[in-house]
Amino acid sequence: MRFKAPKGTYDVLPEKAEKWEFLEEAARSIFKIYGYRPIETPIFEATELFARGIGEATDIVQKEMYTFTDKGGRSITLRPEGTAPIVRAHEEHGMSQWPQPVKLYYAGSMFRYERPQAGRYRQFYQLGVEALGSNDPALDAEVIILLLEYCRSVGVKEMDLLISSMGCSECRSSYIEALKDFARERISKLCPDCARRFEVNPLRLFDCKNPACGEVLAGAPKMIDYLCDGCRVHFESVKGHLGKAGVGYKIDPTLVRGLDYYTRTTFEVQSGYLGAQNAIGGGGRYDGLAEELGGAPAPGIGFALGIERLAMAVEAESGKIPGEYELDVFVVAVDDSVRVDAFMLAQRLRGEGLVAEMDYLGRSIKGQLKLADKLGARFAAFVGPEELAAGLCRLKNMVTGEQEDVPLGGAPAYLADKVFEEPVK
Ligand code: AMP
Repeated sequence: MRFKAPKGTYDVLPEKAEKWEFLEEAARSIFKIYGYRPIETPIFEATELFARGIGEATDIVQKEMYTFTDKGGRSITLRPEGTAPIVRAHEEHGMSQWPQPVKLYYAGSMFRYERPQAGRYRQFYQLGVEALGSNDPALDAEVIILLLEYCRSVGVKEMDLLISSMGCSECRSSYIEALKDFARERISKLCPDCARRFEVNPLRLFDCKNPACGEVLAGAPKMIDYLCDGCRVHFESVKGHLGKAGVGYKIDPTLVRGLDYYTRTTFEVQSGYLGAQNAIGGGGRYDGLAEELGGAPAPGIGFALGIERLAMAVEAESGKIPGEYELDVFVVAVDDSVRVDAFMLAQRLRGEGLVAEMDYLGRSIKGQLKLADKLGARFAAFVGPEELAAGLCRLKNMVTGEQEDVPLGGAPAYLADKVFEEPVK
C-alpha cells in the first residue's frame, strides 16, 4: 500500500510554498498598514460555535463540517472558516474594552467536506481580516478596498467587485416573508434540498447549485428592494465611499454568500481567470453574530480569501509569483582534507546573510560543480589546501565564468557586496 494525501488535500511543495510565503508576507504587510493586527485561534472549536454562528441551514453546517467526538465526549469541529472563532475570542478576551474598532487579521487552514475540483479543496488556506466594534460604512469601504488593494499589489489586474446588502434582522424578516410566498407557489419545481432550505431558512435557496432551482429563483424578490431606511442609508454610504475612492463595483442582489451571519454589506471579488470557482475572496458585515454566540453586541465586518485561488489568478495574469529559491554561493571543497574549512566558510557566508550551500554527499569537484549549477548558484567558492595555506579562496562567477582569488577572511563580506549590489539578471 502506498499512502497518498487524503482526497481534496494536497502537499504544498517548496516551489509553491515559496510563492505562498510571498503572497502571505505581502498580505501581512498591507494588513498592518491598514491597522490590522495578527490573531491566531485554534484549528478546532466546539461544534456548536459553527452550528450557531454559520447557521444550521447552511451547506457548511449541514454537509461540510469535519466533526468528531473527542476522548472527553465533546463534539469538536475543524474550523470551516475564521470569523466565528474570532468573534468567540473577542468575547472571551473582553476585546470590547480595547480601543475600538478592534482590527484583526489571520492566516490559516480551513476545512470543508466539499466535492473537490479546481480551486475547491477540503483543506484550503485563507487569509482574512475582521474589524469589530463599529458599524461605520467607512469601515465597510475600507475592508473592501483592502481586499482589492492586496490582490492588485500581488499582480491581479482584472477583478470584478460585486456588492449587495442583506439588510438587518428587521427588514430581512419582511423580505423573507415575500421570498417564502414566492417559493411556496413554486415548491414543486424545487429540488428536495431546497424544500428543506425553504423550511429552515429560505435565504439559503440562493445557495443551490441546481440549474433548475436557479431558473425558478431568478424571478424571486430581491433583498435590496426590501431594505429598511437605516440599511438603505448605510448601503448608500458604503457605495458613496467606494465611489469617492474611485472603486468600481457591480450590485448583485443574489450575493447572499454561504453563511447565515451576514447583515447589511456583502461583497465578493471575482476573477475571470479562475473558471467555475471564480471568487478570489469575499466577506461582509455580521452585526448580529456576537449576540448570536451569546456575547455582548459587537458589529463587525471582514473578508477572507483563499490563497490557492489568489495564486491561480496571479499566475494566470502575471505569469509569475516572486519568492523562488535563489542560491548565492556554493562552497566547493577541493578535497576531503578541507571539508571542515568548507563547512566553516559556508557558515561565515550565511552569517553575512548570503544563501550558502555545500556538498554533504562526498561528491567530486566535478560533482559539486554540477550540483551548484543545478541549484542555480550565482557564485562558487573553492576551498583547497593550497589556497588555504596562502589564506585565499577562489571565487567563480557561475554566470560569466570569471574567476578571482580573494583573501579568505574577507571573502564573505566581499561576496555579500557583490550579491547585494548587483541585481540578478
Ligand atoms: P468563504 O469563507 O466561503 O466566504 O470563502 C472565502 C474565500 O475562501 C473564497 O473566495 C475562496 O477563495 C476560499 N475558499 C472557500 N472555500 C474553499 C474551498 N473549498 N477550497 C478552496 N478555497 C476556498
